[in-house]
Amino acid sequence: MISPPFSYQISARQGRARAGKFVTPHGVLETPVFAPVGTQATVKSLTPDQLAGLNTTLVLANTYHLHLRPGDELVKEMGGLHQFMSWPGPILTDSGGFQVFSLAKNRRIDQEGVTFRSHIDGSQQRLDPEISIRIQENLGADIIMAFDECSDPYDKEYVREAMVRTHNWAERCQQAKRRDDQALFGIVQGGIFEDLRQESAEFIASLDFPGNAIGGLSVGETKAEMHTILELVDQALPVDKPRYLMGVGTPEDLVNGVMRGVDIFDCVLPTRLARHNAAMTRYGGRLNIVNAQYAKDEQPLDQGCTCYTCQHFSRAYLRHLVISKEMLAATLLSIHNLHTMINLAADIRQAILEGEFEDFCIHFLQVHSEINSHQDKN
Ligand SMILES: [Zn+2]
Repeated sequence: MISPPFSYQISARQGRARAGKFVTPHGVLETPVFAPVGTQATVKSLTPDQLAGLNTTLVLANTYHLHLRPGDELVKEMGGLHQFMSWPGPILTDSGGFQVFSLAKNRRIDQEGVTFRSHIDGSQQRLDPEISIRIQENLGADIIMAFDECSDPYDKEYVREAMVRTHNWAERCQQAKRRDDQALFGIVQGGIFEDLRQESAEFIASLDFPGNAIGGLSVGETKAEMHTILELVDQALPVDKPRYLMGVGTPEDLVNGVMRGVDIFDCVLPTRLARHNAAMTRYGGRLNIVNAQYAKDEQPLDQGCTCYTCQHFSRAYLRHLVISKEMLAATLLSIHNLHTMINLAADIRQAILEGEFEDFCIHFLQVHSEINSHQDKN
């Protein structure tokens, strides 16, 4: 059930794609939407003003990192995450599960939760559904996530075990939740296995969360496997609630995800690539700006891009900043990369509203495959 102060309305549908509005206490998410990741309660190298200038609506922050440093109790004392990081718009926190399984040392999983050592100072820590919810309530995001286990997607016996645990933990999260100004989303797991994904989507749907997430994708499986799973999950989840595809990804993932019923995306890719001197382009191509070929290149990063970086700076200047190790390089590349994703999501939404999404996809995927086959040859 979606209860106030939250609501979700679908404004237009085309095929499986939807353009909707998810209302949260800190603003409306016009979906499909791409959320920048602010791991440490900051989207690296950008001020909140710069984020707002990119038409960012939703920002993601990481529970695992903020729990370890500065501590969720401290964030609560400082007025909660919105005030602490000075982001007045909607915020989503993950459950901490993904980082525990990818970053923490000496991890021991039991039926109740996970014991691990902090990757920062080696101190012993514990996360379980109740602790994850308490931390997320202290942080105070608008959307919070159920504590889940994201496992190796190909080991069926283990994936099944982790899925059963995830289901049990989802129920415990629901029972532990106290604040009614936060929407708790459930997470579908099940690796690449269709029977497990079906079972998981049906179970998570039965818990009647105000929104549902698809986890455990973009973790090593093929694109074809991801698309098959998305199509299957799309059929099993309720249509009248938002769907969030966690940790995905690229421009083509956005188009392919929306085609398969996804509304919300997040990924570290735009800002991570920016810190590795790479510019994303609309149709999925990438530029490594350090390459000598850009030394005297007067063009912007991406022809036709309307971002601040492309409106003001040449590839030659950006290459100079990167080679001189200037901080501004990461900022300007992050602005461009995030603009590319946020603007693509907005254009997709517009195309759905205008009934032109099918043509949009055909054109996009065609140009994307041309660019990719060209890049493969180089
Ligand atoms: Zn640009």
